[in-house]
Amino acid sequence: MSRRPTPDVLFRNLRLGDGTPSAIAVSGGRIAAIGADAEAVSATSVIDLGGALVLPGFVEGHIHLDTSFYGDAWQPHVPCTAGFDVRERVAIQHGNMAAAAPMDQRARNQLELCITNGSVEMRSHVMVDASVGLKSLETIAAVREQYCDLINIQLVAFPQSGIVTCPGTAELLHAAFDHGADVIGGLDPASFDRDVKGHLDVVFGIAEKRGVPVDFHLHEPDMMGVSSIEEIAARTRALGMQGRVAISHAYGLGDVATDTVRRVANVLAKADVAIMTNAPGARAFPPVLALREAGVTVFSGSDNIRDSWWPYGDGDMLGRAMMIGYRSGFLTDDELEVAFDMVTANGAKALGITDYGLEVGASANFVVVKAAHIPEAVVAVPKPRTVYRYGKCIVRDGVLQR
Ligand SMILES: [Zn+2]
Repeated sequence: MSRRPTPDVLFRNLRLGDGTPSAIAVSGGRIAAIGADAEAVSATSVIDLGGALVLPGFVEGHIHLDTSFYGDAWQPHVPCTAGFDVRERVAIQHGNMAAAAPMDQRARNQLELCITNGSVEMRSHVMVDASVGLKSLETIAAVREQYCDLINIQLVAFPQSGIVTCPGTAELLHAAFDHGADVIGGLDPASFDRDVKGHLDVVFGIAEKRGVPVDFHLHEPDMMGVSSIEEIAARTRALGMQGRVAISHAYGLGDVATDTVRRVANVLAKADVAIMTNAPGARAFPPVLALREAGVTVFSGSDNIRDSWWPYGDGDMLGRAMMIGYRSGFLTDDELEVAFDMVTANGAKALGITDYGLEVGASANFVVVKAAHIPEAVVAVPKPRTVYRYGKCIVRDGVLQR
């Protein structure tokens, strides 16, 4: 019979999500034991957390590391001339980016903001189009390397300027997977490219050829959005890609009647297509509870932070859970836990991360805050945070340790 090695660290005198007093033993960067009984485990070193709440590391499921001006000069928001228009906004963005600090510097600022707030997993969309080519992707991939000891980052090759209507983009998207991309993105196949079949042929063609997951930006409203969602779900099932496709925003689901939401939710659940929402501003967004009840994975992300789209955002996924709860009218403890799931376990599921969570065998990645339990943490959004990655302290009281 083999003997288990002595754990490297025992974290004691802590609370788990429901407020239960507990301890966590970490061996080789993974959780070796967890629960009240773990208090008795002997370990090489012991860390007393003083009764603080320990939460699984947060999952930042949708962000843009290439376009933020966080830490750079303030960029006043420039409104579109005749109501929101994606093409006009992209043109405004091009002008702003040309005058901004170097991209790698801005990306590092934003990344450190997210890490000190407790994110341990991230999916960043990075623009790939005929004007920027693969330059942004290469820059962000290099920044990812510099932070690989602090956070895991998936990069999405994101066709911000469309595919069918932006000649050369399809070839660039194919090539992106030799330059650091992990996920293929898409953008409003009906309203932007006005060619749903053509757009999805390229996106799913790359997904199939490269064996990579898919994550669409879908801002299309009402039944136009619903129709695109159904097309995406049908392609997902046809290719056997269940569990590997996400739709970000899916605004249409916030616009249509409850019975339509219910019907589409079942379509999404059958295709195991996840929905990302960040509870955006004054915009109607997908009804979280109705989707979850049907079995849809719903997760979240900061999306834009201090960029050409809006000035808001703070890279805090616990704060994001609060915003989702606030805008969804969540009041009960169960509902607040739903919001919390969206920035933790459901995010991990949508991103295909398997060694996640506060359980034996998972990576020992967790955030320590002052709160009694998860519902209180969601509404109070306590700071500063202390963050452990593979059992090692990487952020102490909000300050990066490197
Ligand atoms: Zn986005």
